[in-house]
Amino acid sequence: MSNTKLKGSGGFIIADITEEEAKKADLGVGELFIAPVGKIDEAKISKYYCKVCDCEFDQSPKLSIENPNEALGQEMILKEIGQYLCNKCNSKVGEYREFEKL
Ligand SMILES: [Zn+2]
Repeated sequence: MSNTKLKGSGGFIIADITEEEAKKADLGVGELFIAPVGKIDEAKISKYYCKVCDCEFDQSPKLSIENPNEALGQEMILKEIGQYLCNKCNSKVGEYREFEKL
């Protein structure tokens, strides 16, 4: 599924994703979202839109990954926080969080 629009809190990205990823991204509200998909390879992102800049860029946003490995209780660990950041203003276009159950 090429040129798929995925929404984030601060804009959207246009990416080439698999059908499986598209299913995850679909929260049943007629739009697809970055957060439930998890990490998308920067090479598969052709464009993004930043709300702060109010501008579209023909490139991937920067992907910043943290691994807090933070225990959240109930045997859940916050494994990874990935943020897609605007190359121009550094604001967050979207993010995902990966959890692991012990
Ligand atoms: Zn920006």
